[in-house]
Amino acid sequence: MKNNTRYQAYRSHLQKVADLGFANAILSWDQQTYMPKNGAVFRGQQMATLSTLGHELFVDPKFGDLLDELSKDESLSAEEKDNVRLTRKDYLRKKKYPHAFVEEHARVTADAFPLWHEARVKNQFSLFEPALKKIVELKRQETQFLGYEGHPYEALLEDYEPGLTVKEMDHVFDDVKKELFPFFKKIIALPKPKHDFLTRHYPKAKQWAFAEKMVKQMGYDFQSGRADYAPHPFCTTFGPGDVRITIWVDENHFNPMFFAAVHEAGHGLYEMGLPLESQYGLPASQALSMAVHESQSRFWENKIARSLPYWKGNFAELKREFPENLNDVTTDDFFKAVNLVEPSLIRVEADELTYHAHIYIRYLIEKALIEGQIQVADIPRFWNERYEEFLGIRPPNDSDGCLQDVHWSYGSFGYFPTYSLGSFYAAQWLSTMKKEVPGLDASIERGNMAPLLKWLREKVHVHGRRLTSGELLKQATGEGLNFSHFMNYAREKYGKIYSI
Ligand code: ZN
Repeated sequence: MKNNTRYQAYRSHLQKVADLGFANAILSWDQQTYMPKNGAVFRGQQMATLSTLGHELFVDPKFGDLLDELSKDESLSAEEKDNVRLTRKDYLRKKKYPHAFVEEHARVTADAFPLWHEARVKNQFSLFEPALKKIVELKRQETQFLGYEGHPYEALLEDYEPGLTVKEMDHVFDDVKKELFPFFKKIIALPKPKHDFLTRHYPKAKQWAFAEKMVKQMGYDFQSGRADYAPHPFCTTFGPGDVRITIWVDENHFNPMFFAAVHEAGHGLYEMGLPLESQYGLPASQALSMAVHESQSRFWENKIARSLPYWKGNFAELKREFPENLNDVTTDDFFKAVNLVEPSLIRVEADELTYHAHIYIRYLIEKALIEGQIQVADIPRFWNERYEEFLGIRPPNDSDGCLQDVHWSYGSFGYFPTYSLGSFYAAQWLSTMKKEVPGLDASIERGNMAPLLKWLREKVHVHGRRLTSGELLKQATGEGLNFSHFMNYAREKYGKIYSI
């Protein structure tokens, strides 16, 4: 085959893999939004079939030969070389999975999800414990056949933040413990700002009417996306021109719908900014990592939608929607209320400072389980002791403790750290953006998000997976991950709110 014919064959092979993957995403989205309850059994089967076909197509040995040939082809452009290099890396990793393991993992996690759900509803860890034990065994096996250089947990981190080492993550969390924990402890001891107005009655339709305007203001394009109600908010991509979000509402609390909508739209903007069309199905069209994805959603949610300039610009509009709830509230009151810092049991409801204690605890548990330092039966005790130690609160039961997250039932180990990393990357984006985008605060206050979206598009989105996170940070901000940007951001913002 001639060189360019080979690259074309590679492209069209990956196009088919992507077609199957995106079709599966539609089935999954429908399952979580509109599918009637009785459709569940066959939907599961249909999704499993599509994902098996996609996997088999991808690990086809002939495709592997093609990748070997292309990886030696010097006539390819830099972008083509990057695509081939990354696909080959994925190929070699996926090839390491024994067929029996893939099947067992799928079966065990499919069974584990309803058990986790029941255990959580009934507040009985023992109902989930045997399944989780099996999952941890599988994860430990997985580290063995995937291989690792330093710590076995790194084999699993690779799926969520490629190249991340335990040493690096430990180092980041050491700083979090040393600097962030004492900082939020000082805040927690102070009188809380007024926030009762956030839990007044906010009707569903009006909540979305406001959130929709704000999501549009960010630059999310409803011609290339849409929002639907689902029990859990998420963002999903079906291909170029179709990046969707789901929303969820609590009529007696302003925060859950609004901040989740902004968060998911932040994920959506990243996807919309990737070269989905020109690089369809290729690594250059894909998000770099879960950590970088979270750096986008958390940037919009916390750094922008929880900032004073944002509410200076948008609070009058919110007040017009909900005059009866917010008549007695000033912009400053509102800004302080949506940034309330207090220790809480539930991760997804935590403020942006204490949030990292929740993540650190999960990181310690995952690492210890993979090392064999603790057993599944030890989780509830370990969990509760760490909550007491870091946040000064003890979960009264496992439903509000170690059973609260769905991740482990799916077999997702290594995912949690990306939430913290994403927040820290986001602070680094903001500190560079402040230097490079003149009048950033004034622009946010005017509701003009275009300059900051342009910055994110050019510095982050456009690269797809071509750079590593470390390279991306370096190229966009001049340095690798530096936690002090997050601490500086926290000290400045919360120092003003709490006069410390
Ligand atoms: Zn997210």
